[in-house]
This record gives sequence, C-alpha cells and structure tokens, in this order.
Amino acid sequence: MPTLSIKRLFDLQELDLQAVSYQKSLTEVRATLSDDSAVAAAQALKEKAESQLSDETAARRQIESAVQRLNERLQAAERRLYGGGVTKARELSASEEERAAIVAERAEVEDKLLGLMVGIDELEAMRDGAKGELAQLETQRVEDHPRLRKEEKRLVMEVDRLRQARESMLPELPPSALALYETIRATRHGQAVAKVERGMCQGCRIVLPETERRQARSGQSIVQCSSCQRILYTV
Ligand SMILES: [Zn+2]
Repeated sequence: MPTLSIKRLFDLQELDLQAVSYQKSLTEVRATLSDDSAVAAAQALKEKAESQLSDETAARRQIESAVQRLNERLQAAERRLYGGGVTKARELSASEEERAAIVAERAEVEDKLLGLMVGIDELEAMRDGAKGELAQLETQRVEDHPRLRKEEKRLVMEVDRLRQARESMLPELPPSALALYETIRATRHGQAVAKVERGMCQGCRIVLPETERRQARSGQSIVQCSSCQRILYTV
C-alpha cells in the first residue's frame, strides 16, 4: 500500500493541468487545420458571381441585338421618310410616327442596357474580390500549415509524454486518495489540490481556521478546505 504524499498528489495535478492545456491547444490547432469555412465562403461567392455574370452577359447580348435591330429599322424608316419616295401628307405623318416610335423604343432598351452594364461591373468586382480572397487564403494556408502540422506533432508527443508520466505516478498514490482527487477535480475545474499560502486556501481564497492549517501542515493525512472541499497542500 503506497503511503500518502500530498505533494505527490499536487505533482499529479500539475501534470494533469498541463495535459489539459496541451490537449486544448491540440484541439485548437486541429480545428484551425481543418477549418476551410473561409475558403468555402469565398468559393461560394465567386461561383455565385460567375453564375450571375453568365446570365447577365447573355441578357446583355440579347439587348445589344435588340438595339442593333432597332437601329436597322430606324435607318429604313428614315430612308423612306427622307428619300423622297413618300410625298403624301398622310403617309409622311405615318412614317414620322413610326420613326418616333422606334426612337422611343430604342431609348427604353438602351436604358435597360445601361442598368445591366452597371450590374455586370458590380458582379465583376465581386468575382475579382472573391478570387483575390481565395488567392490570399491559399498563400496563408501554404505559409501556416507546415507550422501548424509541426505544432500538432509536438503537442501529440507532449500529451503522450504526460500520459506515460501519469501512469507511472499512479502506483505511488493510495487508491482512496486518488479517488477523492478525481471526484474533486471533476467539480473544481481540474483543481482538486489547493496550496495553503499566508493561511489562505489558494483554491477559494478563504482564511483557514488554525486547526485546519495545522492538520494540513503535517501532510500525513488528507485535510480538505471546509469551504471549497479541495485537498489542502502546505508547501
Ligand atoms: Zn478552499
């Protein structure tokens, strides 16, 4: 049966806290390595812009052909009107009306074309922005990933080293003390053993009664803080 040493219990806690800290860093490093949400967002934006651009460009080509056809009709109408072929007042008036109608329609279609071109400019800017973002993210990935992979490897080794150190420590501690340690650790954010400094429990900062302090100083048995229940350790 191993004899109780509060110091060894405290050493175990130091080791466990370090392991938790390394494990947390490892989780963060792995999350960063696998996080491609920024790339996915930029990619989605680029695809959306490209798809809309393709639609708008097709619409622009259609409107440009419509303008072209209206120009041809206008030229034909003007040839009839000013070519001297139409002389009767009624026919002249009808041709003039036709010409005015074509000019009005062309103005309307050209307005639509202008609006479309503004939209196309905006979409091109959006697509180029997303492309730039993707390039930047790729550069960053190339720069960051080797460092992160190295850090991941280091943390895996540290966690493993601490696990082995823990396993070799366990036989040195009485099972009942270990069980109590684990129980308190689970409810006190990993801190089951608290140092006593200037008469205070460093776990909850309460000033301990003299009897508790004295008992804790002996280090022979487990003395728990009457306030936070942590195992008291006097250095
Ligand atoms: Zn306490």
